[in-house]
Amino acid sequence: MSIIPPQQHEHLLQLRPLPTEAELLDGIERLRRERNAVILAHNYQRPEVQQIADFVGDSLGLARQAARTSADVIVFAGVHFMAESAAILNPGKTVLLPDLRAGCSLADTLTAQGVRDWKAANPGGLVVVYVNTTADVKAEADYCVTSGNAVQIVRSLPEGVPVLFAPDKYLAAHVARETGRPMDIWDGACHVHAAIRPEDVAAQQAAHPGAELLVHPECGCSTRVLRDVPDLQLYSTEGMVTRAQQSDAETFIVVTELGMVHRLEREVPGKAFVPVARTACCEYMKMITLENIHDSLRDLSGRVSVPEDVRVRALRPIERMIAIG
Ligand code: SF4
Repeated sequence: MSIIPPQQHEHLLQLRPLPTEAELLDGIERLRRERNAVILAHNYQRPEVQQIADFVGDSLGLARQAARTSADVIVFAGVHFMAESAAILNPGKTVLLPDLRAGCSLADTLTAQGVRDWKAANPGGLVVVYVNTTADVKAEADYCVTSGNAVQIVRSLPEGVPVLFAPDKYLAAHVARETGRPMDIWDGACHVHAAIRPEDVAAQQAAHPGAELLVHPECGCSTRVLRDVPDLQLYSTEGMVTRAQQSDAETFIVVTELGMVHRLEREVPGKAFVPVARTACCEYMKMITLENIHDSLRDLSGRVSVPEDVRVRALRPIERMIAIG
């Protein structure tokens, strides 16, 4: 057994107290100015992260902000494919993802090779991918869509051409229903949305009679809920904010990831928003914290970049998405 000499005890006991939230906020504020940085946060981020962001929105809104920012550094409070989109739009800027492990189970279901295989089997076919895809996949696609513009974009496609819609099968089912367009559908889903069950919706409806439903088309429950309520509207996360502002209802059941409730409470004060299930929580989104935003700004760590050949090819479908809105 070895004994640690007393003169080394001091090193062993060098525990640093964690910074308080106020210290972190001050530090982020100072670093943000020094770095000329902008913080973009997705709707599903932690409340305290949404609070400090320069802009909070969905993937399309964040891509738009990334395209027009004059900041030198973009801190992306979101997941990896979103930071990649910012890097594709801003090759000269530093794009940071404070925790590089923040991925996406839906994006992981589709590879560039999967798209190439479909194109080889369907010459002349068009590939429409959801924004939740990697840069490699976007580089193989013709169109990139969000839940807010997917129906509009598929409606605009030429007739008689094979179409692949990937990777979200629930959003694809919604688009196919709305447009009547026959499409090949990739068998992918987000684990958070797929786990929301019609029973969860029914339980909240029983607990909050008269509450209006705000259902995201990515949800596993949406197809089955639509069977019971055929004229039910589905909303992108931006659409949920607009609907809640315009509706006469006082209470809403929010059928998507939990973080959306905070965005709605902030932007539509005076109304009540009930999460469909406390378990509808994306652990990837919640990896971004005030601590790692602070450290990422301080050290310029968590850099995200895209190889130039991929970036150039992925830019086209992203620019189309931003233009069509
Ligand atoms: S909620 Fe689902 S789709 Fe969104 S980032 Fe998390 S895993 Fe991906």
